[in-house]
Amino acid sequence: MMRRLGVADIRAGLASRKFSAVELVQDRLAALEDAEALNAAVTLMPERALEAARVADRRRAAGEPALPLDGVPVAVKDLFCTEGVRTTASSAMLEGFVPPYESTVTANLIAAGAALTAKTNLDEFAMGSSTATSYFGPAVNPWKARGDGRPRAPGGSSGGSAALVAASVVPAALGTDTGGSIRQPAAFCGVVGLKPTYGRCSRWGIVAFASSLDQAGPITRSVRDAAILLAAMSGHDPRDSTSARQPVPDFEAALGGGVRGLRIGVPLEYRVDGMPDELDALWRAGAGWLKEAGAEIVDISLPHTHYALPAYYIVAPAEASSNLARYDGVRYGLRASADAIEEQYARTRRTGFGAEVRRRVLIGTYVLSAGYYDAYYTKAQRVRRLIARDFEQAFGKVDAVLTPTAPTAAFPLGEKMDDPIAMYLNDVFTVPASLAGLPAVSLPAGLDGEGLPLGLHLIGRPFDEETVLRAAEALEAAAGFDAEPEFVR
Ligand code: GLN
Repeated sequence: MMRRLGVADIRAGLASRKFSAVELVQDRLAALEDAEALNAAVTLMPERALEAARVADRRRAAGEPALPLDGVPVAVKDLFCTEGVRTTASSAMLEGFVPPYESTVTANLIAAGAALTAKTNLDEFAMGSSTATSYFGPAVNPWKARGDGRPRAPGGSSGGSAALVAASVVPAALGTDTGGSIRQPAAFCGVVGLKPTYGRCSRWGIVAFASSLDQAGPITRSVRDAAILLAAMSGHDPRDSTSARQPVPDFEAALGGGVRGLRIGVPLEYRVDGMPDELDALWRAGAGWLKEAGAEIVDISLPHTHYALPAYYIVAPAEASSNLARYDGVRYGLRASADAIEEQYARTRRTGFGAEVRRRVLIGTYVLSAGYYDAYYTKAQRVRRLIARDFEQAFGKVDAVLTPTAPTAAFPLGEKMDDPIAMYLNDVFTVPASLAGLPAVSLPAGLDGEGLPLGLHLIGRPFDEETVLRAAEALEAAAGFDAEPEFVR
């Protein structure tokens, strides 16, 4: 029984020979098969994972130094290209697509010894907040509300990854975050989700949604495990021109520093209408915990916060419409048959894309069209700049910013599906950090009245994941979140 083991536990267990990597990976592959009800994995990779485990065991037997993620089972959002393993973006459009190459981030994990066990379910092309727009049907949150049997959304778009980590099927998973897709599902599923600074991890080999926003990041059950994963994922990549030439610090070594002397900002504009009282109370409690641990709490203002969501829902669809233009039925993926080429394009895209993706392509094409470019796209870019400037000014006064992660706990599956705006409102607290390219983490901080997890969110300066992690660790210790979901394997 190897459930609830984290990355650091696995490292210790392998080092002391409590179990072998093969035993661990076999156990976790069985857990994965057992977790089918969550619909969180879309492709299993047992051979690949077992081979990595065998190599890790051999390395240990030969007395070679262990690699940072030796034998650690990791699930991967099905947006990362994996060599020889189908990659779908949870879309019919990528039917039959088997990449001949490995994404940089997954290649980095493999080089660090990880055993990649599964590709996980997501909202189609990472567009959504529920994992319900997936071609494979919705993933299911392992948490249920007390006295309410309805299945809940795991959040999205990295909902499959968050669900598997929450259910303890894997100790860690990869997600991507464009406007909140790591952090909101982490909050919904009661786990830790970290979006690094834009440029910290290479985007090479990740199916593109909105290139100026997309970032890979880890989903884990502890802050320490997030730090371990991030170190393995990060680094400059000459194949991604937006990947930063920044040294990769030892993120784990930054932990344990405590928050004494840190200044933590609480932005008044994040106190939105209709926010549940218990979320507001948890946010105040979080500030109180940090204060008790020695931080100074500072009220700050991020005056353009209110415009972040509308700006995001112009910029992201604009970039998506351009990125998704490549799916034309000619080069790879789905191809609908037709007599003429225009008809083939139209039919392929009509049958290959789901409703939400089509909506984004239409919005994006509209805001980029000659007559509306300045009115919408240019304006949204200007707003984006103002939002980044709000943060720059705030970081003159504080070292990190504390907010809730999402405005509600996990909603029942199927809810908000016929109301895109209600769905978009889920991203109200996560989108500003995305637009500004800042590192941010969500961690589970408590349960609501129905027994569902709620997350707190820390935002940091560019490339200062270390402070974000340090503060998150202090919050984690104070919150003492140890509740388990109904479904654990
Ligand atoms: N929910 C947001 C959207 O639908 C964010 C998605 C993401 O971060 N990939 O665009």
